[in-house]
Amino acid sequence: MSNVVKWLSDLLAVPWATRPFTRMMRGHVTIIVMHRLADPGRGIAGVDPRDLRRALQFLRSERYPIVSLERVFRSLAGEAPPIDRAVAFTLDDGTIDQATVAAPIFAEFDCPATIFAVTGYLDGELWCWWHRVEYVFETTRRRELSVMMAGLRHVIRLDDGAERAQLARSFMERCKRVPEAEKLRAIERLAAAAEVELPARPPARYAPMSWDDVRACEARGITFGPHTVSHPVLARTNDAQSEREIIVSWARLCAEARRPVPIFCYPNGHVGRDFGPRECATLRRLGFLGAVTNAPCDYATVGGFQSSPDAPFSVPRIDFGADHRNFIRSVSGVLRTKQAIQRRVAQQGPAAPRHLGPALDGAQEEPVDPCASLFE
Ligand SMILES: [Zn+2]
Repeated sequence: MSNVVKWLSDLLAVPWATRPFTRMMRGHVTIIVMHRLADPGRGIAGVDPRDLRRALQFLRSERYPIVSLERVFRSLAGEAPPIDRAVAFTLDDGTIDQATVAAPIFAEFDCPATIFAVTGYLDGELWCWWHRVEYVFETTRRRELSVMMAGLRHVIRLDDGAERAQLARSFMERCKRVPEAEKLRAIERLAAAAEVELPARPPARYAPMSWDDVRACEARGITFGPHTVSHPVLARTNDAQSEREIIVSWARLCAEARRPVPIFCYPNGHVGRDFGPRECATLRRLGFLGAVTNAPCDYATVGGFQSSPDAPFSVPRIDFGADHRNFIRSVSGVLRTKQAIQRRVAQQGPAAPRHLGPALDGAQEEPVDPCASLFE
């Protein structure tokens, strides 16, 4: 990045410098998705809590409406007045850091947020599958792993200088493309090949929040929505499991939370790949207001929400980003301006695809071009 571009990039993270872009946000709502918050005491890497605090300070100082996810959906459905420039926060999975690190910061700024809980994880029945993969890659003493998945043998060399985290992410990507049962068998084969014994309960840094944590978060203004029982990619499950994952996670949440929100979050959540009309039909039958996705990353609008019967079950979100600067660009209209420029350029000729975005879901690694920073 040249010095001039870096200077412009830094400038556009300054509150007053973003004001000329805010008209781009008329009729647009930013639904932010977050995952882990850094907690070095537990060995958890993630968004720096100071960046979340800076982001909320920005929204408050610039008078952005921070609204609940349910309010966004009701507004998009035409049941409540529209809210220009509104921002809603969501956090996926229900990890312990979301209760101990994120919730107090949201409370400090009197901000609502919605956590999507993987209910089997909170019930202590399972680890999140990508945490198991990460754990195996980090703890194995073996230098080479040979693992069968969907009839293909994958040989993974851990002594070639490549980062283990990257190798783990590549393995996760393969996992997301095979049927759910085969994915689980492949992870067992991986652990066996790595000679790593997975503890029955996740270690501290992979721990879920408890149901008591859920209720304590609710008392601070956090709401909860369902995110399946075991976090499978629903399109890779059969009809019975797809339905069960939705119905049981909602039932568990209704049993444990005081006021669960009838908005669903798809695991992985790529439109056209990770869920489909089958899941939308189940959610509609259960009376859900809709559902949120992970990619492509975009803003929510009334036009988009009302564009088709299934559109409320495919509402886009935008990743918080690597730090508060990315966040400020996303909510302020700077990113939309960039998207408009990119669209204009694209109309003038085909452009090569770029891999720009960070992982959105704990186990995701996909091109997420629209979320990249301006001038990046
Ligand atoms: Zn998730």
